[in-house]
Amino acid sequence: MSQKIFVFDTTLRDGEQSPGCSMNFEEKIRMARQLERLQVDVIEAGFPIASDGDFESVREIAKQVKGCSVAALSRATIADIDRAWEALKPASKPRIHTFIATSDIHLKYKLRKTREQVLDDAVKAVRRAKSYCEEVEFSCEDGSRSDIGYLCQILEAVIAEGATVVNIPDTVGYSIPDEYGKIIRTLIERVPNISKTTVSVHCHDDLGLAVANSLAGIANGARQVECTINGIGERAGNASLEEIAMAIKTRHEKLGFETNVNPEEIYKTSRLLTTLTGMHVQRNKAVVGENAFAHEAGIHQDGVLKNPLTYEIMTPQSIGIKHSTLVLGKHSGRHALKQRYSELGYELSTEELDAAYKLFTKIADEKKEVFDDDLIAILEDEVSSMSSLYTLENLQVTSGLNVVPTAMVGLKRNDEILQDSATGDGPVDAAYRAIERITGISGQLLDYSIKSVSWGHDAIGEVFVKIAIDGYVFNGRSASTDVITGSVKAYLNAINHASTARFRRQQNAEAKAESAAV
Ligand SMILES: [Zn+2]
Repeated sequence: MSQKIFVFDTTLRDGEQSPGCSMNFEEKIRMARQLERLQVDVIEAGFPIASDGDFESVREIAKQVKGCSVAALSRATIADIDRAWEALKPASKPRIHTFIATSDIHLKYKLRKTREQVLDDAVKAVRRAKSYCEEVEFSCEDGSRSDIGYLCQILEAVIAEGATVVNIPDTVGYSIPDEYGKIIRTLIERVPNISKTTVSVHCHDDLGLAVANSLAGIANGARQVECTINGIGERAGNASLEEIAMAIKTRHEKLGFETNVNPEEIYKTSRLLTTLTGMHVQRNKAVVGENAFAHEAGIHQDGVLKNPLTYEIMTPQSIGIKHSTLVLGKHSGRHALKQRYSELGYELSTEELDAAYKLFTKIADEKKEVFDDDLIAILEDEVSSMSSLYTLENLQVTSGLNVVPTAMVGLKRNDEILQDSATGDGPVDAAYRAIERITGISGQLLDYSIKSVSWGHDAIGEVFVKIAIDGYVFNGRSASTDVITGSVKAYLNAINHASTARFRRQQNAEAKAESAAV
């Protein structure tokens, strides 16, 4: 019988806090809902004491997600734990995740505490967390570089206080598989009350060994694995969820483990994260990279055509990549569109369908063939702009040789149309300047990229931008058959994110002023 491995996803905490991966409130909720569909066992939603924004998003995820545990991170202090619990209260399965560093180097230089003091903090933290909820996870930060005797001592103490999961992170990505596996095995052999808890692994990828180390930990008795979608996370990232899930599934006979993850949701989840953060995965990334299932060499292609098993250890369909087929044209109706979205796994509300249909008819007019990938791009585009403050109403640009590039932009805000024009280094730059003039929000463009969604000279181009506004970084994305329109819409998408963030910061400031007055 295969043993179940619990999948603890920390995309929204360890992943989201890394450079280039930040998400706003709505984006975090969308990601959490998709992780629920992916059927992970635990979603670590954030670090509530870190900021009001983190607190709010953990609370909303705790409210909305019912299919799995929702965890919140806290240091081993009473204030942190109380704040985490405040945010987690609405969850059907709340989990407080508290941590403290246990390696001598962290104790000496970071915490400036003795081993006895840290042990005492850990015990008190778990006791406090346990007074609030049943599921309590304790992590020994820098566990893989901690003294094994001390690790045994601290784990025994927190398990006695009721910790249901004990996690041994390779925080700095320094371990190698044999060594890390041995740490896990030693703890399982030496900690007397270890059977009352689940041992967990959390590996970083500084030496490219995060997945290998995680599997070594599992092989030696760990039953929870912490990981992120696309392997995002601090520095070189965390162990990648899709690689672990597919290694366990593909090598099931050899390993004898299984997870609850629905592999057919993997591709969609990976794509959603890319869309929300603008952080692409490398083409040759295992499982979800663009080339992961492409057989280029002639001899390989020949083999795959005769029998896929010659070179294919897993199929694209198994992770939910559907063959991009021609499905709809400009005469297809709303019902056909709804039907196809439903086949692709998207159930649309009436408003979402209306918005998607509007853009679909426009694109079907410009582009003879509409593929599944185009439909997904349309949906991501339309639905993300539905709740936007500004939408693009009209755009006219002039550019060429020996003319000053000029753009005239019309934006709709509520029911008002706001127009302005500007000149720039090129038509896109001119349009960005016009948007700045209308919205009063000026951003510094940090990154800009275009990628084609399907194929052909009339393919939809997906534009990603990253802009710095008010000292924060915002992502914008858009899909269009016209790259200039796409570029303008992507920029506007980021401006909309920035204006939502400004509004939230103002609300927070007002709430603080009010509570100070009481
Ligand atoms: Zn980490």
